[in-house]
Amino acid sequence: MKRTLIKEILLSGEAGTEVNIKGWVRTKRGSKSVNFIAMNDGTCLGNLQVVADVASFDEDTLKDTTTGAALSVTGKLVASQGSGQSVEIQAEKIEVLGTADPEKYPIQPKKHTLEFLRENAHLRMRTNTFSAVFRIRHAMIFAVHKFFSEKNFYNIHTPIITSSDAEGAGEMFRVTTLPFDETPRNEEGEVDYSQDFFGKSTNLTVSGQLEGELAAMALGQIYTFGPTFRAENSNTSRHLAEFWMIEPEMAFADLNDNMDLAEEFLKYLIQYALDNCNEDLEFLAKRQEEDEKNKPKEERNMNLIEKLQFVADNDFVRLTYTEAIDILRNSKPNKKGKFKYPVEGFGTDLQSEHERYLVEKKFKKPVILTDYPADIKAFYMRVNDDNKTVAAMDILFPQIGEIVGGSQREERLDVLEAKMDEMGIPKEEMSWYIDTRRFGGAPHAGFGLGFERLISFVTGMGNIRDVIPFPRAPKTCEF
Ligand code: ATP
Ligand code: MG
Ligand code: MG
Ligand code: MG
Repeated sequence: MKRTLIKEILLSGEAGTEVNIKGWVRTKRGSKSVNFIAMNDGTCLGNLQVVADVASFDEDTLKDTTTGAALSVTGKLVASQGSGQSVEIQAEKIEVLGTADPEKYPIQPKKHTLEFLRENAHLRMRTNTFSAVFRIRHAMIFAVHKFFSEKNFYNIHTPIITSSDAEGAGEMFRVTTLPFDETPRNEEGEVDYSQDFFGKSTNLTVSGQLEGELAAMALGQIYTFGPTFRAENSNTSRHLAEFWMIEPEMAFADLNDNMDLAEEFLKYLIQYALDNCNEDLEFLAKRQEEDEKNKPKEERNMNLIEKLQFVADNDFVRLTYTEAIDILRNSKPNKKGKFKYPVEGFGTDLQSEHERYLVEKKFKKPVILTDYPADIKAFYMRVNDDNKTVAAMDILFPQIGEIVGGSQREERLDVLEAKMDEMGIPKEEMSWYIDTRRFGGAPHAGFGLGFERLISFVTGMGNIRDVIPFPRAPKTCEF
């Protein structure tokens, strides 16, 4: 008999139908005469209740239907006596496909802490919390492609192994074909990186942007959505060593077009989650409300769903870096009236405490900060007429901080080359990049959205390690 998904049964199962389900036991309770087994197959939050009359089954089979065991159950759907669900399944045949020793199985039918589940990352997807998060993550992947398809952006795969290290976005992971103990060294004893990959020094990509620009200069509007790697030794709740980034790039566009696209995109994704992941979001919202009760009132976060709807419905605040510095210098962030990192003036690199102050205290809305000092931003950003700032933008979200970083790119050959010289970026090695300006250089702009930061925001999960199935971070790479 063909298997039916539990999601479909809970949605539209009719009493009287004969079905087969396969899944894992979540809970079991019962009496001498009847067992009630709640089954989940990952397709939805809800469980389907299996009713097994003890007299109809041999003792050994029922004994093995403990939490975590994998079962195949065949039987008839009947109207449910209990509240919540309209049908349950009256079991005729139960096959135990895999047992789970109740003494050893770590995932018990109770609320585990996120720390405990992080330590059991290989099994945590079997909980409601994590299956909800990863179903939402799936929906967001789909929504990303849907949004760009509808807008005529082409998806381009940019390389994962790259020999370009000029982006300067973070520390790189080295990729080498050399055996571990045969790394060649020069006379000074320094590692000879040029031997990594047939005469080239190679790394894992930190961003697909530069290659994305090449594609935008041919296809007009493109986006990449791929894994990126940063060997940053940061133990924050916002940084991973391996994360996924969405990077659109548009030809014939300036910073305003870029801000409009990013704001529309973020709102679209959030609204998509609200429209399509309601059951999972309601569950996560409830979980968080329970956690919030332990916090002092003034630190409590808004209800997850209200927060998402608010961001989807309201304009983001747009403001220049220089205006933000003025606000920060005149603000009293806490009882002491000071930030941990003082805001000296123009040129100060904003820390997350400053970003969060602007978003969470001052404006209480997402903020797009623009026109940063040229000195603290990358070489490819377009220099503004003031010669001091560049056409950069960061989008700051509550609880997350920076969620998007982007810019209009410098399309003028002479200005770009001068900037590369000034910053010591080797032009010969980047000749492929400069060619886009040598031949038909057009104004263009783009941004990068950190996919896990988005998922953190949408699910309300405070630690970025809890929104990627297999997190990679310092001391987090067990398998
Ligand atoms: P941050 O200031 O938070 O370190 P960044 O400015 O170094 O971020 P960008 O190079 O601008 O990051 O990358 C674009 C986007 O990628 C960021 O806005 C963020 O959403 C995401 N991102 C950057 N680094 C990480 C990381 N280590 N883990 C997860 N997401 C990241
Ligand atoms: Mg960084
Ligand atoms: Mg940053
Ligand atoms: Mg950035």
